[in-house]
Amino acid sequence: MKIIILDTYKKTPYRVSKDTNGGYGVENDLGSGIVAWTLSRIAKYSIFWPPLAALNLVSEFHALGESVKYTQSINDVDSSIDYLFLSVSIVNSNHEYNSLISLLKKYPELKIFAFGAFLPFDKERFKQAGAAVIIGEPEFLAQQIKLSKSNLNLLFAQGEITIQANDPDKLAPAHWAKHIIANKNYILGNFSSFAPIIASRGCPYSCFEYCTYPLQQGRKVRSMSPEKVIEDINLINKDSGATNFVFRDPVFSINKNYTYSLLEAMSLKLNGFKFTVETHLNNIDDNMAERLKSASVEWVKFGIESSSKEVLDNVSRYSIAQNEEKKNIQILKSHKIKTNAMYIVCQPIDTFETTKKTIEYAIDLKTDLAQFSMFTPYPGTPYYEKIKDTELTTKNFEDYTQFKLVYNHPIFSQKEARKILGDAYSKYYLSKLLF
Ligand code: SF4
Repeated sequence: MKIIILDTYKKTPYRVSKDTNGGYGVENDLGSGIVAWTLSRIAKYSIFWPPLAALNLVSEFHALGESVKYTQSINDVDSSIDYLFLSVSIVNSNHEYNSLISLLKKYPELKIFAFGAFLPFDKERFKQAGAAVIIGEPEFLAQQIKLSKSNLNLLFAQGEITIQANDPDKLAPAHWAKHIIANKNYILGNFSSFAPIIASRGCPYSCFEYCTYPLQQGRKVRSMSPEKVIEDINLINKDSGATNFVFRDPVFSINKNYTYSLLEAMSLKLNGFKFTVETHLNNIDDNMAERLKSASVEWVKFGIESSSKEVLDNVSRYSIAQNEEKKNIQILKSHKIKTNAMYIVCQPIDTFETTKKTIEYAIDLKTDLAQFSMFTPYPGTPYYEKIKDTELTTKNFEDYTQFKLVYNHPIFSQKEARKILGDAYSKYYLSKLLF
């Protein structure tokens, strides 16, 4: 069989990532003003990796000995291809749909499977255009059915396939790096080769009210054994030379005992690597920070989201008290671990005053990096369901970049929201230059 995994991107001056934001993707147009403009350009040319689901699909077909190719170019498709797997996001959904239309116009016999966390909310359009849609994490397809030609033809004829969350330990060895160079991340990668990896999936925290990760991976945590994580890191390193890895787990240290064994295995068995993880500050203490440090975790990312308890409570964000946040950030710093905090502005009950205080709080926390984004009601989340009939300002889902206001805010206009976002970046990064 000849298989193509197509991960196509529209032309934009901004970085598009389809892997972040629970696989819905983001487009980093960071707000108005020169600082946000400059940071947008830096992001565009310094950080990229393909969606992990696409990479894992490459590994699954590779393990079966099939001819598989990952590409971002529609021009790599020709009449010899048997099956094409099309990666679908929210930020590029129209572009991906148009690619599907033009491919089927040129190759009407081509069997195209579309996949992606956002797809369940746009699936009819893709089905009507002639694709079969995969609902769920596509890399687990091989655990559900043997990926033979006859079975793929049957699945295609079915039109829609739902994949059950399955066992990460049974995923194929991560041989994708043989086929793909995904080493652009000069910021977190310290200018050396860089790759993504995932050890645990799923997040049980209450912020599923607005967050897309539980939609992509469920609320039950599923972890890969430390042995397989180490094996996959070594394989990716052997195939690509990557020594910097970003863990794509939504909350890296959610299960303490598991995290301790993983960190111990990393510190014993991996030498010369550097890691970035994303976690919840609730899971940080001296013991965890010490173990992170010995496992060569260089960067820890975490969500702060807002400095206002009312704003956080309004969207069921689970956060710890500010004195705890400050203490835990200090713990990370004292272990010489770099910190990257994430904030969401223009939340539903935010005011000029609360956003100002959030920016001041970000400056006060003095993390090494800070990222600000705009509150976005994503299809599939309970918050979206609440407001979808009355408050959305657009149903063009490519506008759901995480950096535009797409709902009627009681206070902010789009222009004001974009200015708040731009100001957040300017004030935060100028404060770092001055102090
Ligand atoms: S902690 Fe909240 S914001 Fe983070 S992944 Fe889990 S549900 Fe999403």
